[in-house]
Amino acid sequence: MTAKSAPVDPVPAREECRTPDVYFTGSRINWFRKPEDMGTSLEEAGAQTALAELQASPDDDYLTVTLLAAGLAEILHRRSRAQQGETIEEGLLPPAWRVGFSRLWWRCAEQSGPLDWDDLRLLRWCAEPFSTWPVILDLSPTDLQQTLLVDEQLSEFAEQGARLAHVDVEAEWVERQVYEALRSTAAANGTTKKEVEEAYAYLRRYLIDHTVITDRTVLSLEHNFRAKDSSGRTMVRGLIDVAYRSRPVSGPQRFLLCPGCHNVVNDLAPSCHTPGCLGGDPLVSVLEPLAVVYEQHRATRLYFHDPGLVEARIIDALRDDERLAGKVRVTAYPEVDVLDVLVEFLSPGPNPVVLESWGVDAKDQVSAHLLGRGFIWPQRLPCTGRFLALPMHRARQPQYVTDLRSELDGRVSGVVVIDEQRLLKRIRERAEELHP
Ligand SMILES: [Zn+2]
Repeated sequence: MTAKSAPVDPVPAREECRTPDVYFTGSRINWFRKPEDMGTSLEEAGAQTALAELQASPDDDYLTVTLLAAGLAEILHRRSRAQQGETIEEGLLPPAWRVGFSRLWWRCAEQSGPLDWDDLRLLRWCAEPFSTWPVILDLSPTDLQQTLLVDEQLSEFAEQGARLAHVDVEAEWVERQVYEALRSTAAANGTTKKEVEEAYAYLRRYLIDHTVITDRTVLSLEHNFRAKDSSGRTMVRGLIDVAYRSRPVSGPQRFLLCPGCHNVVNDLAPSCHTPGCLGGDPLVSVLEPLAVVYEQHRATRLYFHDPGLVEARIIDALRDDERLAGKVRVTAYPEVDVLDVLVEFLSPGPNPVVLESWGVDAKDQVSAHLLGRGFIWPQRLPCTGRFLALPMHRARQPQYVTDLRSELDGRVSGVVVIDEQRLLKRIRERAEELHP
């Protein structure tokens, strides 16, 4: 066995570990991210994961594949830095990878499987579905069909795993920067709490509705969001610069957009690869920039645009429903993104009061198990109804809801797992009951 654990503080069995961010409960390790801890380095994560190895039950295969995903993310990140001419100092493979390797090795030994494999062989397995690995992993049937690598890039499953282990890869770095730019742009462009919240919700939705824009669009955004930073640049331009990649062009630009999700597709392969998107004949969009077009950064697409489609559908369906007019108040990203949607049921009469508040967190993630492990309900906003809403393409997968509920069980209480259509139905029924 080549894997070696990073040094860690031993914790007596069954005692709570005091390392920040590692919540050890019985045989289960849960990671989650707090805003102030977003900067956790990989070495720290490595120490935590090594701790996980000591403490967690060795049969927790989700932890193993999460560690491998986190390790792969770091390996790919190093490779892209090396390709850009940077000197890579780190000699050893990432700690998360080494711990994942070691856990897998022990799993193989337990099952009397082959023990003569090395890192390169394991890397090759990562491009194959887990079901074909020479070790039986206790993952759900759907997750067993997943791979960690697709075309030498992290798969959607591996992205989810790497995020759960909060490894600092490029995508996460961009995600964090986009969040920070969203918040600071909104804060600088509002004088009241309400104005800031509205600016935030507008800009957050902007990233869901616009995958490709021009410098003309940015100018009109700057007209509406005028606050500037200390260098005299508008904050909103700073947001666009981190969320999009700019490209100088001349003359009109033709793009093909998927009609389902509005992601850019190309002529040769008109498939958008957006989870759950039904696609269709691409829409032709001709943009007329002055000199620059902006296309969404991959991370913006992965973490804001694609998963945002489900919350956008829910918000639009509620706002467009005339039967709900005057009965329900819908707030997107309330209190600067504590939740995705706040639904307030109003009393009848000229001076309506809020009778009940329901909170909705919409999640579109490939693995129900990993989603359940990473999920927390924000306590800041008191809600009588709490819903974790799933897009139909996830909810319809066999076992997805059952697996998610089993992961949440005992860890997150009082949250109802529901698909987007049933959620809308329940909101309409409740509005009718309270305000006939
Ligand atoms: Zn699409």
